[in-house]
Amino acid sequence: MFRCKKCGSIDNFGLILSPDYQGAGNISESRNEDDEIIINVDNYEFIPDLGFMNHHAVCKYCGEIKIWEYYFSKFHKK
Ligand SMILES: [Zn+2]
Repeated sequence: MFRCKKCGSIDNFGLILSPDYQGAGNISESRNEDDEIIINVDNYEFIPDLGFMNHHAVCKYCGEIKIWEYYFSKFHKK
């Protein structure tokens, strides 16, 4: 999971594809059994790392980019 360092939103992001990207750009997100995000871009699946997030993800709440940090819910008791 990823948290916005500016506003604290968790996993609330939209992805920006590179302008050079040639594919159709169909993006979907899902989760695996470890509650990790899996991103699917044109049927290519991967688990995003922090570097990917800070290059391609924008916070849907505050609009910031390059502000993500890892967030592990199991270490944060509610
Ligand atoms: Zn934010």
